[in-house]
Amino acid sequence: MILPGNAACHGCPISLAFRAVEEIENPVLVIPAGCSTVIAGMHPNHALRCPVVHVPFASTTAVACGLSESYRRRGIRGNVVAWMGDGAADIGFSTLSASAARNDDIMVVVVDNEAYMNTGTQSSLSTPAGAYTTTTPAGKDTGRRDLALLMLMHHAPYVATASVGYIRDLRRKFRRASGIEGFRFIHVHSPCPPGWRFDSSLTVDVARMAVESLAWVLWEYDGVLRISDISRRSSVSRRSLREYLLVQGRFSGVDDAMIERLEREVLENWKLLQSLETVLR
Ligand code: SF4
Repeated sequence: MILPGNAACHGCPISLAFRAVEEIENPVLVIPAGCSTVIAGMHPNHALRCPVVHVPFASTTAVACGLSESYRRRGIRGNVVAWMGDGAADIGFSTLSASAARNDDIMVVVVDNEAYMNTGTQSSLSTPAGAYTTTTPAGKDTGRRDLALLMLMHHAPYVATASVGYIRDLRRKFRRASGIEGFRFIHVHSPCPPGWRFDSSLTVDVARMAVESLAWVLWEYDGVLRISDISRRSSVSRRSLREYLLVQGRFSGVDDAMIERLEREVLENWKLLQSLETVLR
């Protein structure tokens, strides 16, 4: 789905996620400004093997909704995918929320690298507490917003979290979402080497460490919420959160108190998801 020689940095997680788009039947991507725009390339060059519409941030899901409706009226079966980073999800949250509440027949994929990487690593609402960004030079004070749980609370028919560290799981979720009608949301954890400050050879390792330490939990909702076996196994023989944090330069300034706070937040999130799994079954 993605051609070699594109503009992604070495080890880019988004270019890994783009490869999995081939699991989506007849995809049309709607992309606001961000790393994905740069990777797709500027006219007349084009690095993706599917149609792409480049749009302003806040209009992303509205444009996707219009395209989807237009295809439906013409009898064309396709999957219009609003493909954005966490920055565009922040900026376009009102249209994203409205689209989910209307149950528009679109897929939304958020490739979440936990900051505004394309403009130089400013903090986003996905940036975890303690992380250094150019707008949080002493480490971020507040915790990250959980976009997938927010989408779940919009009563979307399909919501899932995924990771570029588990590509088979990610591919299966793209395939599954592709066959469902209505609003589908997939939140893809995307560790970014330059923004998180780790070596570009470690993208998949860092993504897996996030899952193995429960900093990122893989789950899926399609009327029933299920925590994936990968995350369930991780909860039994859990990797150290400290190890996951300290492999990244953006956390090099954190002290023990911050690591303990993050540990508490991770465990609270895990308990919350277990409770939701009990309720939504
Ligand atoms: S800044 Fe990060 S997410 Fe953006 S293109 Fe580079 S590696 Fe990919």
